[in-house]
Amino acid sequence: MRRIIKPYLKRLGSIKNSATHKNFGANLHRFGEPLGGMLNVLEQNVWTRLFKRPIPWTVTDTNDDHSHLAHKASVPSISYPKPDGVLSFDKPSSVYLSGTQHEENQPCHLQLLDVNMVTDSHIPQFDEPSQRYCPAGVYEIIEVEGRKQLQINATNCLHCKTCDIKDPSANIKWTPPEGGGGPNYQAM
Ligand code: SF4
Repeated sequence: MRRIIKPYLKRLGSIKNSATHKNFGANLHRFGEPLGGMLNVLEQNVWTRLFKRPIPWTVTDTNDDHSHLAHKASVPSISYPKPDGVLSFDKPSSVYLSGTQHEENQPCHLQLLDVNMVTDSHIPQFDEPSQRYCPAGVYEIIEVEGRKQLQINATNCLHCKTCDIKDPSANIKWTPPEGGGGPNYQAM
């Protein structure tokens, strides 16, 4: 019985957790960093501790998420420490743990609407953000004959759809993969 109920309790916990964090992006986008950040602390730390339940209100985000990207010249570059394998992990080992599999030789389920957009606009302005926000390292900038281009490692895709909403020009179209492929978390 415990084995049957446990996954449902976990799922309930995830729903409660996402309800607690639902305004995170909207607060930052609408009220800016100091005020939006303070609201997030209030909602996620103070309210939930005081009242033991998620916040009952919803802040609507009026702008597309990708419209908040800043030009690369206006932000400092961040040098992240290497994953220590204890608290932080590299993307390939996390993708391996996800059990992601896709049928071989299928058409790429991630399509670029304009193939030149990456080199003409995204690299000069944003240093192609997909190589950072994609949790599975699907997007890589490689150099072919001295020219940068985007390589799409679609078989690693976890189908989170971040690229579909975060691309600066809404240039990436996510489509369902053939054969229902994707992550298969065995330990959850
Ligand atoms: S759907 Fe998610 S995992 Fe797949 S390519 Fe897009 S950002 Fe990466």
